Amino acid sequence: MPPVDDIVRLVGGARRIAIATHVAPDPDAAGSSLGLALALQSLGKQVAVLCDDPLPREVGFLPGAELFGSSLPPGFSPDLLIALDSSDVERLGEAAAPLLDGALPVVNIDHHITNLRYGNVNLVEPDSASAAEMLVPLIDALGVPLSAEIAACLLAGVAGDTRSFSTTSVTPDTLRVAARLVESGADLAATVDAIFERRSFGLLRLWGLALSSLQIEDGIIWATVPEDERRRLDLFRVEAKGLSNLLLSAEEASIAAVFTELSDGQVEVSFRARPGYDVAEVALALGGGGHPMAAGCTVSGPLAEAVPRVLAALREHNSAALASGSDAALGSGA
Ligand code: 5GP
Ligand code: MN
Repeated sequence: MPPVDDIVRLVGGARRIAIATHVAPDPDAAGSSLGLALALQSLGKQVAVLCDDPLPREVGFLPGAELFGSSLPPGFSPDLLIALDSSDVERLGEAAAPLLDGALPVVNIDHHITNLRYGNVNLVEPDSASAAEMLVPLIDALGVPLSAEIAACLLAGVAGDTRSFSTTSVTPDTLRVAARLVESGADLAATVDAIFERRSFGLLRLWGLALSSLQIEDGIIWATVPEDERRRLDLFRVEAKGLSNLLLSAEEASIAAVFTELSDGQVEVSFRARPGYDVAEVALALGGGGHPMAAGCTVSGPLAEAVPRVLAALREHNSAALASGSDAALGSGA
């Protein structure tokens, strides 16, 4: 049976559905979870969305935000778990862990090429530009009309993961899905403005801190965000968002990496790559995951050891592309 039919059958038989998405949720994690939650609610299901971390402020405007939480509501005992936008179970965090003990059927809906197929049903489409894009045909199959609220959530996911329709992962299907979402009432300009054009003053100062450490070697550009500096500048609660994209805008760079030291001494790494280079493989080898041109992982510290280790792995996995020194033809590598 195709996975979509399996999912329709499992949803049909379920009364209470938990949706789980990845830690440090991005607009795709948040928008796809809330969009699916609203669609399932309109089928009369009770729904809760589980995530270890709160909804990021750039998508705080989305309808259904109150469904998002780090624990299930009292008395809510789900009979189905749907995981969204997460390539492995660790990334689903502590909130979802008790639901992954084998007692519940698990549906894994994702678009990461590094997905480990941990569900009883796996709907995994690496050619899809976002998890939200995959949900439009699923919601059609469930027989739910796209309301303006569902459309707003899903458009945040589609626009978020495509950097407002500018990545090589965008296909004609992405644009068709987006057109339907806009037709259904989602506001594209407001969505893109909220996600990409609004930043806290603290984030800009954090960018400044990171940029002061900028280095480039053989087409790999990187920056570090040490924990003591973040504390000194009172920036500890600010997440280093958007920096890896900013670094990759350097004309001389083919691969970008941002190293953020965490309070437990581990180091979070965010990777970006130009077409023709691949950071998903490196991230997977280091215990993380992602897409060929956008990936991440968390490695052991300290920074002084993590940085050379990760740079060496990046060089090793991209030696041929770095040696040739030029981007692949536009459109490949997505
Ligand atoms: P970002 O740099 O925007 O945080 O993440 C880029 C991409 O890499 C996203 O698709 C994200 O899901 C994935 N990613 C980032 N960190 C991790 C990680 O620790 N584990 C896995 N599996 N994926 C990650
Ligand atoms: Mn995604």
